Amino acid sequence: MALRSKKVYNRLNRARLDSAALSIHWPAMAQLYREVRSSHEAWMKGGTPAKLATASQAFTDFLSEIFLVPLKTLSLVDKARPHGRDEKGRVRGELYGSCANYGNIRVYLRTAARGQPTAFKTFFNTLVHEWVHHYDFEALGDTVHCSGFYDRVNAIYKRCIESKDESCRNERS
Ligand SMILES: [Zn+2]
Repeated sequence: MALRSKKVYNRLNRARLDSAALSIHWPAMAQLYREVRSSHEAWMKGGTPAKLATASQAFTDFLSEIFLVPLKTLSLVDKARPHGRDEKGRVRGELYGSCANYGNIRVYLRTAARGQPTAFKTFFNTLVHEWVHHYDFEALGDTVHCSGFYDRVNAIYKRCIESKDESCRNERS
């Protein structure tokens, strides 16, 4: 990890996603989230990843729009996660996805060890995680895995995952 100034680190650690924006846009976001989930389910049952890619791109585009950062191209890679192995042959250092400041977001769709489809929660967490790196680059000027970063991920991830199927409920104003 590159050395960053304390000032930059503190800014990255303090920043939060605007929860009012999340609440206002929740009904539309929940709909897009459900499409990601159902297209992942279809892919797990033997479909191609094309629909999952479309739904995931729509979801991250929506996040970019509501949080006022440029749209970012997403690539879903239908391959096993790049990884290393330790001296006993165990998988180490898996790469779930990546986000280049001047490039695409990439998310790997298959497990490192056996190349099996990645479970939904892992896939969706990686998707949100990489988008938050994009948000950080654009809105905050840099990105690092600090607790503020994980708070930003969880503000989106948990809200979606915990919504279950009651995601059409009305938010109180
Ligand atoms: Zn990361």
